[in-house]
Amino acid sequence: MKIYISTDFEGVSGIVAWEQILGDSAEYAYGCSLLTDELNAAMDGAAAAGATSFVVNDSHASMRNLKPRELHQQATLISGAFKPLYMMQGLDSSFDAVFFIGYHGSIGHERAILSHSYNPKAIWEVKINGTIVGESGLNALVAAHFNVPIALVTGDAATAEEAEWIAPAAERIVVKESISRFAATNLHPEVACARIREGAAAAVRRLAEQQPPRFSDPIELEVTFLTADMAAMACWIDGATRLGPRTIQFRGSDSLGMFQRFVTVVNLTRGLAE
Ligand SMILES: [Zn+2]
Repeated sequence: MKIYISTDFEGVSGIVAWEQILGDSAEYAYGCSLLTDELNAAMDGAAAAGATSFVVNDSHASMRNLKPRELHQQATLISGAFKPLYMMQGLDSSFDAVFFIGYHGSIGHERAILSHSYNPKAIWEVKINGTIVGESGLNALVAAHFNVPIALVTGDAATAEEAEWIAPAAERIVVKESISRFAATNLHPEVACARIREGAAAAVRRLAEQQPPRFSDPIELEVTFLTADMAAMACWIDGATRLGPRTIQFRGSDSLGMFQRFVTVVNLTRGLAE
């Protein structure tokens, strides 16, 4: 049984500030150890329930947060950038399940630690078929294309809430409660890991109940930016319709194509966001 794991960072217990997940400090190194422990807990739990191999996609910032030697021995690590499928690079239809580890809430959520939707300097809000989504919902477009269920999601309570729409039967493990965008009540790391281990095992045991994400056809992907210039730039992409000064929409049946357009938007507007 093959499990695909996309790891972010903001949703790890103990993480409440950008300094813990970016840069080259002792704080960052400590943050990496917390992430690694939660990731290994997920793999240990899944392996105990019958999973045999893991592909881990390091999906945060530099995408070089994880150290290969520190990972579960059945893990293959995708690290570094550029990756065409970004946070979902490496997924294909040969996998039995997707895990999202250390995920976080969307930029507009009322109480979500370090909230953002791909780029906090450019993306104000994203909707799929009218529902506000964060990274879990966007990345679910790729899981839908390859027909693989999202079986485990870990992060704060906002993450769990937002994942319900795309993966209602997933094990959703809450490791911290966000107080604001830069404060949270965190479980002890060992307790967080124990819960993730149990959740991953349960996710594998209940795999028959899990369905791949489904999006109604056509998919309407709406992106609102911080500035009108960003929306104008996004309209260079074929198929983009301007809905308002700062809002564009893509419409189509192909979930992978929708995701690729979104990733193109993120990369294209990066120059205006810096
Ligand atoms: Zn993220």
